[in-house]
Amino acid sequence: MSARLLNGTEIARQVRAELAPRVAAFSARAGRPPGLGILLVGHDPGSEIYVRNKGKAAAELGIRADTERLPHTATLDEVLAIVDRLNKSAVHDGILVQSPLPAEMGSDAEQRVFDTISPAKDVDGFHPVNVGLLVQNRPHLVPCTPLGIIELLVRSETKIAGARAVVIGRSDIVGKPSALLLLHRHATVTICHSKTVNLPAVAAGADILVAAIGRAGFVTRDFVKPGATVIDVGINRVTDPEVARRLLLSTPQRLADFEKKGSVLVGDVHPEVAEVAGVLTPVPGGVGPLTIAMLLGNTVKAAEASIGTR
Ligand code: NAD
Repeated sequence: MSARLLNGTEIARQVRAELAPRVAAFSARAGRPPGLGILLVGHDPGSEIYVRNKGKAAAELGIRADTERLPHTATLDEVLAIVDRLNKSAVHDGILVQSPLPAEMGSDAEQRVFDTISPAKDVDGFHPVNVGLLVQNRPHLVPCTPLGIIELLVRSETKIAGARAVVIGRSDIVGKPSALLLLHRHATVTICHSKTVNLPAVAAGADILVAAIGRAGFVTRDFVKPGATVIDVGINRVTDPEVARRLLLSTPQRLADFEKKGSVLVGDVHPEVAEVAGVLTPVPGGVGPLTIAMLLGNTVKAAEASIGTR
């Protein structure tokens, strides 16, 4: 058996197309486009790419996106001052501070930033008010990657109600909110993590398996029930030729790319899982494009709420 691959790029395109009339309606009514303020601190190459892609996707949809930059030597107070300014801005409906912040800012810096962003502009959905609303199943702004996972499941007509769902990973950004969204759609949910005993056997009970771990090719075929839907959230940059060869054995074109570039992006799910799963998301081109589409959706939602049309 070979799993059906979910095309995240195409599904994200549909989501953006559905947002376009809402952007036009808001712009006509408010006399300005929805606006997203992005703050990038330092020069992390991954963050640079994410921020560029987010800004480009916003602009293509007619959303105003302004990126502010601070050097990696900036203080947390400087970051909070920009967040405060964006909180008060009349043209920015959403605020995004790109993670990770420089380690020198301290281990609680990101949480302090999330706590400072106005809940009404919190398009990442990390503010405790939005987290609380999600827990109580009256969500407003919900983290983008978990929203994208649900979008992929719904649009691929995967049955969630009554399904057994296993989420591997318990982060505040992906694992926990994904589990809550699945629970609210009536799945029976198990959250697994680094201390879970007998993880492959627990995972193999899942009709829907979400892998959000951050370890290349971690989920092997023994984790997967035949026919299960497997959502691979992981984005891991592999530079070790041995690991790359092991993971890319079945995709010679990607292996050739690796040999040329010296690095490759792979998910948390081993390619051999395609022989067991019923449905699988590829990396790249699975969850990633949805995350950006959901960020745009949250920005439009925040904008609409600001003028009382949502
Ligand atoms: P994180 O490091 O905050 O959390 C990882 C989780 O995995 C932890 O809860 C930990 O308990 C669990 N874990 C670690 N080792 C484990 C093990 N051996 N067995 C079982 N569980 C284990 O990471 P995160 O922010 O949740 O991101 C997870 C992955 O998803 C990363 O690869 C990240 O790059 C990717 N990601 C992708 C997108 C996207 O748009 N596709 C968005 C966010 C994150």
